[in-house]
Amino acid sequence: MELNLKSVIKKIKEENYKRILLQVPEGLKTEVVKISDKLEKETKTEGFISGEPCYGACDLPLEEAELLKAEVIVHIGHADFGVKTKIPVIYIPVYFNLKLSKELKQEIKKIKEKKLCIYSSEPFRKILCELEKSLLEIGKEVVNKQIILGCSEINQKSEANIFIGSGKFHPFTLKEKTYFLDLEKNKLEELTREIKKEEMKKQARILKFREAKKIGILVSTKPGQFYRDYEKIKKKLENEGKEAKVLILDEITNEKLIGLDFDCYLNTACPRVLDNHFDKPIINLKDIY
Ligand code: SF4
Repeated sequence: MELNLKSVIKKIKEENYKRILLQVPEGLKTEVVKISDKLEKETKTEGFISGEPCYGACDLPLEEAELLKAEVIVHIGHADFGVKTKIPVIYIPVYFNLKLSKELKQEIKKIKEKKLCIYSSEPFRKILCELEKSLLEIGKEVVNKQIILGCSEINQKSEANIFIGSGKFHPFTLKEKTYFLDLEKNKLEELTREIKKEEMKKQARILKFREAKKIGILVSTKPGQFYRDYEKIKKKLENEGKEAKVLILDEITNEKLIGLDFDCYLNTACPRVLDNHFDKPIINLKDIY
């Protein structure tokens, strides 16, 4: 893993910040105290650590920073998501220095399609370039090469997609024929059937939503997920003859919704909230409007 703190240390010194709030994703929690110590020592600052789970750069601890009078948030693990903030945020992506193994080079030869779109997540940016090179060497055509998020909307067409990385969170953003080059298991897996199953589940949820009368509109307080047009959506639903109420939450979980009298929920926040179990039907805003 490559985590370069030099640029952040330089920036903190240049701006003369004295109070820093540090935020890391779950996978880096074991390192957070060490990172905070290093920043404090090298920049002679007061460091604080955000203890809330963080799933992306859409999820910044702005209120906590204000309470702690922090002058800057140092967000490690994700690239800038474009959230507008009053407090400055320094983003430090983390990269994995991995090489395409011999086994994976053999695996990609099994892919029959010629025109391919290739994808990965930010930490695997370097290996995505290596994959492109290897595909070109065996006569494939790379139509699109892109870093994606779990909420990206991908409409680029090709004969097949390849996602290279770790975990299935990101490849499920893709549609149609998709291969997953799993860097943890060091093997190629086709995900097309699973992706189709997810699409069928989505269609079933849409049907339930259409039949539902009482709708809870879920709005998240997370700065990069907050949906400003919640009132327009409420009116739209009421015009369709439904009863609608807006519910505001930070993290959206099934537990928080237990006991509420709604037939169905409309999620305006991170679309991947639906990867978790919910007792009542729940649908993403972008799937219906
Ligand atoms: S909205 Fe969800 S998928 Fe998108 S960056 Fe945030 S946590 Fe990741």
